[in-house]
Amino acid sequence: MLKDRFGRTIEYLRLSVTDRCDLRCEYCLPNGYHDFETPDEWLSFDEIEQVIRVFGQLGTRRIRITGGEPLVRAGVSALAQRLAALPGIEDLSLSTNATRLAKQAHALHDAGISRINVSLDSLRADRYKQMTGGKLQKVLDGLMAARAAGFQPIKINMVVMRDRNDDEIEDMVAFCIQHDFTLRLIETMPMGDTGRSASQHYVNLQDIKARLAQRYELIDSMMPGGGPARYVQVAGTDLRIGFITPISQHFCESCNRVRLSVDGTLHMCLGQNDSYPLRDILRHGCSDEELRQHILAAIELKPERHEFTEAPEKIVRFMSYTGG
Ligand code: SAM
Repeated sequence: MLKDRFGRTIEYLRLSVTDRCDLRCEYCLPNGYHDFETPDEWLSFDEIEQVIRVFGQLGTRRIRITGGEPLVRAGVSALAQRLAALPGIEDLSLSTNATRLAKQAHALHDAGISRINVSLDSLRADRYKQMTGGKLQKVLDGLMAARAAGFQPIKINMVVMRDRNDDEIEDMVAFCIQHDFTLRLIETMPMGDTGRSASQHYVNLQDIKARLAQRYELIDSMMPGGGPARYVQVAGTDLRIGFITPISQHFCESCNRVRLSVDGTLHMCLGQNDSYPLRDILRHGCSDEELRQHILAAIELKPERHEFTEAPEKIVRFMSYTGG
């Protein structure tokens, strides 16, 4: 198993297959932004497969395909099928904004992706458009297609922002109960200029939990996934609500992951700049054993914790580049 300097087991990789996105969520990518990696800089599917194969040999069990918006890259189902077949990879999941999910849901499920997370910050079309630039109906169609394709669980990720959507959490709870989705509420992180200006709308989710507890009976609960969310179940329903609280209650001591961006850089922490470039190594035709040594060296760089609160200016990368 991969162990870092702080004794944490690293068994989860977030794989960004593109830094591009068809939305411009106000906390993530600026309007008009086009400074993306070019196709020659993207890891090919063969290169990705080699990296994941070696991570699998090193004990990584879970892979989440993400981006950017992963479904804007052609052939993601074919890639998923290749990754699902690798020895050791037990859990292949996807994060998506679902704008293109309606057409691809069945193929992705057939390829071996079992769990899916969908970003959805509002159920009001005008507000959704304002927050993300996208069309709500496409996301709803994508969600229904995911349900029909057999994904289970389907988790809704909602970034909670004051004066944007913090009045909609109870509506989202009702929506998730109605459709048997899991709800995850996320605190804004100061990543890039966008994340920093969105942090002016930061909401401490401990307050939201207290607000929900006045209306619903909340019972401590668990969900499969290996992520940092702390879950409660709404009594009398199947709904679980996860709270992802990088700011108000960070979870770095149990961090079990690293991220691979589309240009082949391994990022050790969302909130630090420690990274290790693998692309040139891969393009020089390294063996699995050589790659293994590089991955071990990279894991040595993993920092103890993020400093979003102490040093909010530190991270200039957008979440879309690093891989959410
Ligand atoms: N496009 C996919 C999606 O929409 O889920 C995957 C990538 S997206 C960058 C992954 C997650 O990061 C989304 O749930 C998004 O809301 C979240 N995110 C992006 N920027 C963030 C920020 N500054 N603070 C908190 N969450 C952020």
